[in-house]
Amino acid sequence: MAKRLFTDFDGPILDVSERYYQVYQVCVQQVRLPQQPVDMLSKAMFWELKRSQVSEYDIAQKSGLIQPGQATEFSQLRREIVHSRPYFQYDRIHPWTIAALEQIQGAGIDLAVMTMRRISELEPVLDHYDLWRFFPDGRRFCLRDDYQKNGDTLDKPMLMRWAIASLPPVSHQWIVGDTEADIIAGKRYCVQTIGILSGIRNRQQLSLHQPEYILADLREAVDLVLRSPE
Ligand SMILES: [Mg+2]
Repeated sequence: MAKRLFTDFDGPILDVSERYYQVYQVCVQQVRLPQQPVDMLSKAMFWELKRSQVSEYDIAQKSGLIQPGQATEFSQLRREIVHSRPYFQYDRIHPWTIAALEQIQGAGIDLAVMTMRRISELEPVLDHYDLWRFFPDGRRFCLRDDYQKNGDTLDKPMLMRWAIASLPPVSHQWIVGDTEADIIAGKRYCVQTIGILSGIRNRQQLSLHQPEYILADLREAVDLVLRSPE
């Protein structure tokens, strides 16, 4: 029987750090008062805080938004715009993604994408980087545009339930993803979990959810799947 790899999108395939950093800077500038000094974090510092799951409230305070209500205002504004259209343009494909996907597809591994993106947030990126060839109909598990989100750790297992119910059985399957949502979804449906460090969580945060593997990036995940026995 065949093997299958589910891949999350943001983290394993795309680097979203610049989008998050641009949004961070815009929010700090919008919330600060005229003349109020702020400490804009460097991108490296900001991203390490995100990877450590430091809250938006604390990130705002570390940036100097310490007047009453400012950290809350920052958090709300950030939530409103981080997944909005003007900022998706900052996402970039990891330089190794295409080669890794070609390698696994070439080996006959069944490949599917599983993402919290909505259809209208996923398809333009598939167009832009010519990724449709890896994820044909029936191999894209994402959210409808009108879906009311409940939170990633609830919605991702819902996508996995849909996938397991609709796909042909395989002997071994894995999910590779960069957050706890991917690990929780995999574990609930007996899919081997690979936490990946090329995204928005560091090793310590991923370890809390005890994935079977923690690997650097999609290349290492592909190697693992290809080397595993049938
Ligand atoms: Mg992700």
